[in-house]
Amino acid sequence: MPELPEVETIRSQLALKLRSRRFDHVEIHDGRLTRPEPPEVVAAELAGEVVRDVRRRGKYLIFAFESGRHLLVHLRMTGSFQHPAAVGPDPHRRAVVNLDDGSDVAFRDVRRFGTWLLLEPGELDAYLSARIGDEPLEGAFTTAVFARALAGRSAPIKGALLDQRAVAGVGNIYADEALWRARIHPQRPAGELARQEVAALRKTVRQVLGLGIARQGATLSTFRDPNGRKGRMQKAFKVYGLEGEPCERCATPIVKTRVAGRGTWFCPTCQPDPR
Ligand SMILES: [Zn+2]
Repeated sequence: MPELPEVETIRSQLALKLRSRRFDHVEIHDGRLTRPEPPEVVAAELAGEVVRDVRRRGKYLIFAFESGRHLLVHLRMTGSFQHPAAVGPDPHRRAVVNLDDGSDVAFRDVRRFGTWLLLEPGELDAYLSARIGDEPLEGAFTTAVFARALAGRSAPIKGALLDQRAVAGVGNIYADEALWRARIHPQRPAGELARQEVAALRKTVRQVLGLGIARQGATLSTFRDPNGRKGRMQKAFKVYGLEGEPCERCATPIVKTRVAGRGTWFCPTCQPDPR
């Protein structure tokens, strides 16, 4: 599933391509994309909108239009954009936007969990603030803010990192990578981390997300940027998907377990279980 670095990679490329472009015509082929709104209604509403900018909050892509409306896109498992759109039939193409420069943007989604939501002017902030917490790469994400988000939580820290209301944009890959770097066991209760551990984890969350952006995201199977290129972050993984491989710091074999219902990789020596 695309996480913050993958969505940011898509955002920065789409922003370059789409800024000031008008959506001349929109076709949405899949009713699941806009549910409960009928796809033809959303497509008709989008026609004529001019893109002011393409933004991101957490894992949401946000097309901000000159009209003040926003198209909020969540890629979920396998959603992706393609520009220019590939020519010829594609069974996984769910929507196509014809732009006023004659080019097309396609939205592809093999698993069909992606969503498009058109918000009227003034609706965006309330929608997002009800669903996601602070942006980890922004200055406002201080150790104090992070500590407040974790305080009182008895759930494992891995689960807290995956909770978008605690911190926006972190998913399974970057959670494991950040915990390894901070030497914190994924099952530690989130509210019981010492202040210095919270500070370390804040730093490593920012490090791994920044590295992911610099490497244009991680491609495990499906992720591609709008130009069709794979990311390179998967080559920098220290634990994710590396069960049995030696830990880079101590040579202990990396262990795979399950935390918060998700496959979780960690080093049992560097990240000791306090129980
Ligand atoms: Zn280790």
